[in-house]
Amino acid sequence: MKTKDFDNTKRDFLKKCFAFSAGIISLPGPAVITEMIREEQNIYKKVALFQEETARGIMCRICPNECVLKEGEISKCNNRRVKNSKLYTMAFGNPCSANIDPVEKKPLYHFFPGSRAYSIATAGCNLVCLNCQNWTISQTSPDKTKNYDLMPERVVEESVKNNCRSIAYTYSEPVTFYEYTYETAVLARKAGIKNIVKSNGYINAEPLKKLCSVIDAANIDLKAFNESTYLKLTGGKLQPVLDALKVYREMGVWLEITHLIVPTWSDKMEEIRKMCRWLSDNGFKNTPLHFSRFYPVHKLEQLPPTPVEILRNASKIAAEEGLKYVYIGNVPGNEMADTKCPSCSSTLVVRQGYRIVQNNITGGKCNKCGKVVDGVWS
Ligand code: SF4
Repeated sequence: MKTKDFDNTKRDFLKKCFAFSAGIISLPGPAVITEMIREEQNIYKKVALFQEETARGIMCRICPNECVLKEGEISKCNNRRVKNSKLYTMAFGNPCSANIDPVEKKPLYHFFPGSRAYSIATAGCNLVCLNCQNWTISQTSPDKTKNYDLMPERVVEESVKNNCRSIAYTYSEPVTFYEYTYETAVLARKAGIKNIVKSNGYINAEPLKKLCSVIDAANIDLKAFNESTYLKLTGGKLQPVLDALKVYREMGVWLEITHLIVPTWSDKMEEIRKMCRWLSDNGFKNTPLHFSRFYPVHKLEQLPPTPVEILRNASKIAAEEGLKYVYIGNVPGNEMADTKCPSCSSTLVVRQGYRIVQNNITGGKCNKCGKVVDGVWS
């Protein structure tokens, strides 16, 4: 800086100090400073898809929350914001989690067993589940988490380099980092990598159909089978999730469903029977159903873990209602983590935790009786 420039700057600064002490101007408050920092970090990553101008503000049509936001407001999912009358996603190329997981961890038991999934998540979620295991990243926004710099091209490169069969959009909620998921999935497809979503299924039909065009497999949480419980437990509604399940199936995405049994919330056998009957009556008999054990966490720390007996009773009910592949998860060393042939009942896939110990499926068929086993095996 030249001496003259420096003098001018100093003069400006002194003028401002005088004006400030005289009450003529005000220094930026904390909100403005935060805004400046945000601008610097370029958090407005990308213009969001499925936005619509309304008289009340900009509406996001991605999920049933259908947030309507005014200038500067942040969405329910904490990662969308309006700037200059446009909705932006703040969750693009900046995941706060990136790991290589066994595909069984999603859980997906009938989709390339034993393969690796490059797993990413950004901060944010469209539900507020009391029992969220990942609440430290789901209930915050991308400008508050420590993030990786991983644009879609790099995610695909890393997946190839690490010998991953698939990329999983997981941990928090891919519905809310929709643009990042979609663009990465398009590139992954071109590179011969499969795409997986682990999701709450809380998404509107139109964005879901677009997403399904590049997704190969999904594990969807069906958190309860009662509207009132759904609302109290998650902040969302049940019906849109049931609708989404049908879309996934109709679009040919390989689907598995998880029902976490939370004591006093989603452990009533009559509701579990209703849920299994609905699945059976609506074409999901061949869709694997995972009953998962709850462990105390987040806002339900006071509850005990789900008794194993409850999980076993639920599995019996599912089998009675005609579901062919029923599993119990989160219970180490239980035989209900193995896959049985629905025709001859022989054990097909033996699992120890997330490890495959034995696989008796060849070309998608049972080695013993030769019947087709539903899934994507090779
Ligand atoms: S995805 Fe986020 S911004 Fe869009 S409607 Fe759902 S909660 Fe609102």
